[in-house]
Amino acid sequence: MIDTSFKNLFKNHITALIGENGLGSNCTLKFNNSTTELCNNCIYDSLSKASSNMYNNTGPSAFADGTMCPVCMGIGSVQNNETTYSLNMAVIFDSKYFLNISNRVVNLPNNTIQTICEIKELNYINNCYELIIDSVPTQSYERYEDPNPCGLGDQNYIITTWRKK
Ligand SMILES: [Zn+2]
Repeated sequence: MIDTSFKNLFKNHITALIGENGLGSNCTLKFNNSTTELCNNCIYDSLSKASSNMYNNTGPSAFADGTMCPVCMGIGSVQNNETTYSLNMAVIFDSKYFLNISNRVVNLPNNTIQTICEIKELNYINNCYELIIDSVPTQSYERYEDPNPCGLGDQNYIITTWRKK
């Protein structure tokens, strides 16, 4: 019988699994979200709305005063096309151990993985265009299925199936 104490046991175990010190993997979700940011390498000239052509003494790439900033090419700002979000998820690499098998998952290509994370991450999972598992940064994944809420009654977690890009 699934009673409250069993549900709590389940919840505590999943939480431990995907917690900071659990067996989960550090993952990064990527979003398309184009923003303009001031250059982090030069002093911005708000009058000309461009680089003042002077190094700010803290940026990654020093240059001589009066020459072009090598980071923004004198524009004073840089386009940031990518935003990211880091989270911890349990990652299942072997489809034999996939959970919550839906109809679509029956004919899974063998380059898929599943992740389990807390329901609070749902918006991030839904909106990202790419998943990176930080320990394998050269491989990226895209969502194969919409996230499925799971859990015993309280639906505290979501399972997402991803496909290698
Ligand atoms: Zn600059």
